[in-house]
Amino acid sequence: MNHATRLHAAWIVPVIAPPIRNGWIAIQDDRIVAVGEQGDRPAGLDAARPAPFVERDLGDVAILPGLINAHTHLELSWLRHRVPPAPSMPQWVQSLLAVRTAGATGEHVESSVEAAIDEAVSWGTVAMADIANELVSPALLRRRAVDAVVFHEILGFPGRVAPARFAAARARIETAGDASPIRLRLAPHAPYSTSPALIRAIADDAAARGWPPTAIHVAESADELQFLSTGEGAWASMLSTLGMREPSWHPPATSPVAYLEDLGFWRPGTLAVHGVQLTRAELDTLAARDVTIVTCPRSNVWVGAGRPPLEAFVACGVRIAVGTDSLASSPDLSVFGELAQLRRWAPDLPARTLLSWATVNGARALGLEADLGALAPGRRARVLAVRLPPGVQDVEEMLVSGISGADIAWVDSANPWPGPRVGAWPSRPDTAQSPAPRP
Ligand SMILES: [Zn+2]
Repeated sequence: MNHATRLHAAWIVPVIAPPIRNGWIAIQDDRIVAVGEQGDRPAGLDAARPAPFVERDLGDVAILPGLINAHTHLELSWLRHRVPPAPSMPQWVQSLLAVRTAGATGEHVESSVEAAIDEAVSWGTVAMADIANELVSPALLRRRAVDAVVFHEILGFPGRVAPARFAAARARIETAGDASPIRLRLAPHAPYSTSPALIRAIADDAAARGWPPTAIHVAESADELQFLSTGEGAWASMLSTLGMREPSWHPPATSPVAYLEDLGFWRPGTLAVHGVQLTRAELDTLAARDVTIVTCPRSNVWVGAGRPPLEAFVACGVRIAVGTDSLASSPDLSVFGELAQLRRWAPDLPARTLLSWATVNGARALGLEADLGALAPGRRARVLAVRLPPGVQDVEEMLVSGISGADIAWVDSANPWPGPRVGAWPSRPDTAQSPAPRP
């Protein structure tokens, strides 16, 4: 059925343009056709196919694009509340490994992934980049119609395991199927956990297939810098304990960025996750390579990695996206929560810049920029309404300052988005004609 709906609200927040007070957004057939302010005509509507044009006034809400979570580990969702915050990352990993050894049943993992997807959607997440070791998430994301890039993560430090690990992982993603809206890719875990041979194999394979880039955790903890520069420290001890030490490996005595550069890993659009320890010179290299930094601020605090160098991120001009990381190192899957942490650390950054990290930049990072990440004609109508107190003057500032889940609703205009709605709709009656269909 051909529906056209025009939603009016106190604020329209396109992100790629200034917010519009008392604006509207016109949606037809699940696409945004026009955005305007009171008095403008929705010229973009398809005149050849007259539609029941439903006018709805949502009142004191901000309408904005669905958010992009550019780094999660849905398979770790069963670890929620089980791995406490730690003063250093190796200590956090030790706790995590201890709990993981105790184990969870496959059923528990699957049901916790399902719940986590629902939770992410209820926090306004429209698409995500998920790291998967067992490939539990793709089918569940597909069932839920959430757009995602799922990175099948491989690790293993001894070089001898690289060919078999790579071949097995490659076969698994072939079997799982790579089709919209779930894209499957390979990713190495991190420079301290993955052999150079494996990192190079993944990079070469992606390049040979003309694939969009891969992702890696990089420069997360100071221990990683120590490991790459001296071959010693907490990560070296942990590799020994786990029987993963590689006697033939010699530390490159370089930074993580230079090390991965030598391995041919940085390609345009590669996701460099965390980057807490990156120097300005390394960031300049990543910016020149057109890499995207994915910052996960609350996780950085949780695991004891520290505060990311946000000022240097911005100064070097690198593209930045935002992720929550897993529920083993984050209290929830709210990208709004990450934005609030970033705002506390960087009070002088324009609010629109922060919002763009969680929307348009995230969409670009996932290869979805034509469809998601902004309110603009042609993009899919995966839009949120966030309830506001009356009289808000700076709506973008409000949105990056902490949003309660109870104030977030998906706009189910003409084509119902299947996500759950958190909280009730604002109680403003529809203003004209018949109400839009509701799920
Ligand atoms: Zn991660």
